[in-house]
Amino acid sequence: MSRTPESYRDDLKIYNSLTGRKEKFEPLVPGHVGMYVCGPTVYSNVHLGNVRTFVSFDVVYRYLKHLGYKVRYVRNITDAGHLEDDSDEDKISKKARLEKIEPMEIVQKYTIDFHRILDKMNNLPPNIEPTATGHIVEQIEAVKEILNKGLAYEVNGSVYFDVIKYNREVDRYGKLSGRKIEELIANTRDLEGQDEKRNPQDFALWKKAKPQHIMRWPSPWSDGFPGWHLECTVMSTKYLGEQFDIHGGGMDLKFPHHECEIAQGKALGGKDPVRYWMHANMLTMNGRKMSKSTGNTILPEEIFSGRNDKLSKPYSPATVRLFFLMAQYRNVLDLSEEALQAAEKGLRRLWEAWRKIDALPVSDTSDWDVNAWRDSLYDAMNDDFNTPVTLARLFDGAKAVQRIAAGQAHITAGDKALLRQTMEAFMFDILGLPRQTGQATGTQNLDGLIRLLIDLRNQARQAKNWALADQIRDELGRLGIVLKDGKDGTEYEIR
Ligand code: AMP
Ligand code: ZN
Repeated sequence: MSRTPESYRDDLKIYNSLTGRKEKFEPLVPGHVGMYVCGPTVYSNVHLGNVRTFVSFDVVYRYLKHLGYKVRYVRNITDAGHLEDDSDEDKISKKARLEKIEPMEIVQKYTIDFHRILDKMNNLPPNIEPTATGHIVEQIEAVKEILNKGLAYEVNGSVYFDVIKYNREVDRYGKLSGRKIEELIANTRDLEGQDEKRNPQDFALWKKAKPQHIMRWPSPWSDGFPGWHLECTVMSTKYLGEQFDIHGGGMDLKFPHHECEIAQGKALGGKDPVRYWMHANMLTMNGRKMSKSTGNTILPEEIFSGRNDKLSKPYSPATVRLFFLMAQYRNVLDLSEEALQAAEKGLRRLWEAWRKIDALPVSDTSDWDVNAWRDSLYDAMNDDFNTPVTLARLFDGAKAVQRIAAGQAHITAGDKALLRQTMEAFMFDILGLPRQTGQATGTQNLDGLIRLLIDLRNQARQAKNWALADQIRDELGRLGIVLKDGKDGTEYEIR
């Protein structure tokens, strides 16, 4: 008998950014997991870096579910309150003002884009997707409560969190990011002279809106809007409780965003709001962080369609997903044509092996320990969701399938069933790769069709039917699909 997925639960270790250690995962309520991930600020298209982070947490969610946990996964939409750097203006409000449209039109457009892209990436939707604008009342209540506790103060209609007082009376501010309050103060003192804040480290819980600011709500202090950090505190604890299991986000959110969330949560609920803080590392391009503000970005659609000046051909969402999984989520990953090609090849190898399993011949004995192989897959995922090792083990499985198919190794009927079940669980349920058929998206179909034509052309050439072979090449060329014959076979490029 092979073990149940539940029986592997106790071995799961998660790297906790708060303690800097891998820790055994023990949810607050046995069998149940509350997980919150910071969602996008919907004022522009998500770039591929954002997508990597959401795929990283999709795998966490999928694996926890696979282990039989009842997971409540909350991921917010930031549709108010995220300030433009060095300004008092909200990113969405500013864009709406410049484009002369309603802020909610901006929000709608980019929320739809976000969902569409994550759908293509085969991400599962969260259980709750709350918006900041839908929780203004709760945020105002939270500001009142923090004021009542004496950990915030009002100036000219804005309310700020008193970081110095919190640090003195409640808990150390900076414990997640490892920053010391004294150093933070020393580093910023001379920069901000005329601020309303008592101290540069203080952060806004509520901001009074300037006359040109479109998005505003009445409050006891002013017509204004909530601070960005507050929405995540309010929405995570509303749906998951004052203390919950997992909070995720990109590495760049550790400070100040998550540091502020800890302070607010502790000010409100009296305890650390989060048990396991998880931070996903950055996607880079040419060695630099992918980021909208520096222009070092590529949009998912530009990769899926091939319409970009950085890559020679399109790559399907499934290929991009596998490319992300080739690095552990805590490591930096650099986007390159070679890595995407390796992912494309890897994906084809996995799909090919999976399709062959059904037809594998069975024997009385196995010369391959399928149970041990399956354990090694769980070991990899249990080691802080180590997807590159998981993939390496899956490739071992694919190799074994090829050897059995070629008659070089043997497998029993029972082991074959376990092999199939394990390949499917890890490829599709846990890593979230699509089954090639049925779920294929437009570009996967296109890739499959072009490869089919390439195969037919090769068959025509083998049959010395040069006219047909040339016709296929020329007609494809007219459609902007250029075939290139090389020593490893024929590749194509879309012009
Ligand atoms: P934002 O919409 O800017 O709040 O970002 C949404 C999420 O994407 C956050 O969790 C960010 O940390 C994450 N993110 C931003 N840039 C990158 C990147 N280059 N690589 C990975 N994640 C990123
Ligand atoms: Zn957040």
